[in-house]
Amino acid sequence: MFAESTCHIESYYARQWQGALPERPALAGDCRVDVLVVGAGFSGLHTALRLALAGRRVAVVEASRVAWAASGRNGGQALLGWSCDMPPFEQALGVEGARELWDSMRWAAAEVRELPARHGFDIDYRPGSLWAAVRRSRVGMLEAARDEAAHKWGYDGLRFIPEAEMPEWIGSRRYRAALYDPEAGHLDPLKLALGLAAAIERAGGVIFEQSRVLTYRETPNGYVASTREGTVRAATLVLACNAYIDRLDSELSSRVLPVGTWQVATRRLDPELARSLLPRNSCVIDNQFVPDYFRLSPDRRLLFGGACTYLGGIPKDIGAAIRPSLERAFAQLRGVEFEYAWGGHIDISIRRTPDVGHDRNRYWLQGFSGHGILPTLAAARAVADAILGETRLLSLYERIHNPRFPGGERFAAPLEALGKLWYRLRDVV
Ligand SMILES: Cc1cc2nc3c(=O)[nH]c(=O)nc-3n(C[C@H](O)[C@H](O)[C@H](O)COP(=O)(O)OP(=O)(O)OC[C@H]3O[C@@H](n4cnc5c(N)ncnc54)[C@H](O)[C@@H]3O)c2cc1C
Repeated sequence: MFAESTCHIESYYARQWQGALPERPALAGDCRVDVLVVGAGFSGLHTALRLALAGRRVAVVEASRVAWAASGRNGGQALLGWSCDMPPFEQALGVEGARELWDSMRWAAAEVRELPARHGFDIDYRPGSLWAAVRRSRVGMLEAARDEAAHKWGYDGLRFIPEAEMPEWIGSRRYRAALYDPEAGHLDPLKLALGLAAAIERAGGVIFEQSRVLTYRETPNGYVASTREGTVRAATLVLACNAYIDRLDSELSSRVLPVGTWQVATRRLDPELARSLLPRNSCVIDNQFVPDYFRLSPDRRLLFGGACTYLGGIPKDIGAAIRPSLERAFAQLRGVEFEYAWGGHIDISIRRTPDVGHDRNRYWLQGFSGHGILPTLAAARAVADAILGETRLLSLYERIHNPRFPGGERFAAPLEALGKLWYRLRDVV
């Protein structure tokens, strides 16, 4: 369904490297390792790094380039929690089990703040996120979330910002209230992914680019995976392919649907204007069913994203598609020039729950449903721990049921699109 590309797309992030993005060789010939990780996004890279640091021989095999897909081109908002929120975890695991997962999410937030310095790279991390209510009827949702976090999940860091204080946080009259999370933040995702890749190599792992895994099979000694020009033999296989799993594994692919989503970066804004939009430099996501999300880059651009399409495509004119939402949020930016506009694919699962598990020595991480910077790290820890013999966290994920999409390849996307339309209507009426 997706063709691999030899270079990164023209995103704001990739452009910062001015053509100096590191390149890695393609796999050629035979390679034998302990663990083969397929996919060099956050899921695969975090898993590979933890295993390489624990002394395992690891190969990461990537169809395109490191972080060519969602991990290198997302909104950069490192938010605590999952796309599905906590109810599916609580239903499946009870309060105790769900709390263990929540604790692992807080661990992921701390790790993303500390890991880059540990490995000697920078990700332009800025602390603080806002979850903002557009509609008065959804302000109560924020207070309820704060109380639940404190009483059920033991997290009392969330701060409710009432309407009167909102101008100190967002230079827009669209938002009625917000929840501030000091443990969340925003970052440059491509720098994070490339830093992880370099750390894997320093720890003895190898990374092959331009090497799509076409097939894999199980053998008495593990797995053999084949690309066009080589094979990897490994005792353990990790599939971290996100929306691109496609025909490599029809069973995994039947539980996720690729959804297109997109964002823009404005021209550099004058310092005064930039400060007036987001005086405290927090990132923001609203609590509409189809949320807008935005933040400032270190060079004072507004990075703004939101819409998505369940039919997989990305609009030809992304700027035109996104401008009405951006100008609805910030009327003072009417007509502002967009210097970058790009799209990508996320992998939604039917209940927006992460789909993380294993059978024998084959592991997978997918279904992050558009919210993956911290969830991929939390899940990678669970998978790497399990490969190293500690299965507790992974066993929690494995108790969450992830059904197949109804309708098979042909009808799943249109059916989801219809469902989504219903919720979109609930955002406006
Ligand atoms: C526009 C956009 C904005 C987003 N904003 C945010 C945000 O602000 N905050 C947040 O938390 N999340 C956000 N997300 C979601 C987040 O980026 C993803 O959940 C996360 O990056 C998923 O990481 P991953 O490693 O699972 O997948 P990916 O990053 O997609 O990586 C999968 C990799 O596997 C490779 N691959 C697939 N099949 C094969 C194969 N057969 N052989 C070899 N390689 C293969 C692909 O080429 C790809 O590089 C956003 C996503 C998009 C697209």
